[in-house]
Amino acid sequence: MPELPEVETTVRGLARYLDGARIERVMLNRPDMRFPFPEGLVQALTGATVTGLGRRAKYGLVHTDRATTMVFHLGMSGRWRIDPSDHAKHDHLLIETAGHRFALHDPRRFGFVDLIDTAALDAWPAFAVMGPEPLGAGLSPEYLRAALRGRKPAIKLMLLDQRIVAGLGNIYVCEALFRARIDPRKPAGKVTRPALERLVPAIREVLEQAIGDGGSSLRDYARPDGELGYFASRFDVYDREGEPCRSPCNGTVKRIVQSGRSTWFCPKCQR
Ligand SMILES: [Zn+2]
Repeated sequence: MPELPEVETTVRGLARYLDGARIERVMLNRPDMRFPFPEGLVQALTGATVTGLGRRAKYGLVHTDRATTMVFHLGMSGRWRIDPSDHAKHDHLLIETAGHRFALHDPRRFGFVDLIDTAALDAWPAFAVMGPEPLGAGLSPEYLRAALRGRKPAIKLMLLDQRIVAGLGNIYVCEALFRARIDPRKPAGKVTRPALERLVPAIREVLEQAIGDGGSSLRDYARPDGELGYFASRFDVYDREGEPCRSPCNGTVKRIVQSGRSTWFCPKCQR
């Protein structure tokens, strides 16, 4: 499932070819993905010039000069194919500029597209309730301290709550808590100020490292068979149950289940 770094990498890959370009042609190969394509999408995009791309949490944003923004979500299996040499079965949305073709490919169709007024972006239902971006200035130890004060659920679960921090998924929460040496089971309100001061840079580091790794494989997005990559070699705890901790603690990575989802951590390092 594409996480924030994959979405960021996708947006950067698209921006390289799409930013500033005029959309010549838009085609829908079916009426819907997870949701129906918004009414008027083809007309709204055809002839529009892309004025910028962006990301909010795990949503990609394509801004146009018509004061509208196309929002896309990659769901479980979505990815953009740039200049595909073939017509693949699961290319649901096709966009053409003078120089390039872009296909939104999603075999499982959990992804979706919406079209919103750029000025009303923050009021879009999913965005209206979201916490700050993990890579933005809004996430600080002070913010987390206030947001988590008195909260009893485990810190792991609170960090997965999009209302607290936007766009953090299971992998990166596990990795960040390991780097910050915080026990994922600890009640969120009991995480100390020094621990929160370690946590914020840890969150940024794991995301930025993954984005960097994704960036180095950016050329893959231009290949018709290019796959969205996960950057598994860099993980310290994620999916490493029973393996030795990478810190010199002689500990072993343990897996527990919290609210139905796996958490990997080192009980020796994370307290
Ligand atoms: Zn350890």
